Amino acid sequence: MSAENQAVYPSLSPIATGMRGRCPRCGEGPLFDGFLTLKPHCPACGLDFSFADSGDGPAVFIMMIVGFIVVGLALVVEFTFHPPLWVHALLWIPLVLVLSIGLLRPLKGLLIAQQYRHRAETGRLEDT
Ligand SMILES: [Zn+2]
Repeated sequence: MSAENQAVYPSLSPIATGMRGRCPRCGEGPLFDGFLTLKPHCPACGLDFSFADSGDGPAVFIMMIVGFIVVGLALVVEFTFHPPLWVHALLWIPLVLVLSIGLLRPLKGLLIAQQYRHRAETGRLEDT
């Protein structure tokens, strides 16, 4: 076991670290290398990010959150103003793109921070 694994780190909020794209253990090092690609390890504390696999989690939450917001707004606009269809396309397509792309990275960071905090990982059989 290396010295860095023996260090004690305070428990950090997954929201504070994950949504800012920071390491879930130290809260300092960047989590991402690019837009959604993870760094292999934290440059600040050395935490190995190989445990991190958010899978389709961020996309599912984004579909639910953005869908709720956009469908709700589209219904309000439709029943209030009765605009032509091109107005709906002009309003909601850019909003869907901005919200979806804007939420991807914070939600992926949040799910990875939650995964780290709760030690969630793929199930496997114990060695005998
Ligand atoms: Zn770190």
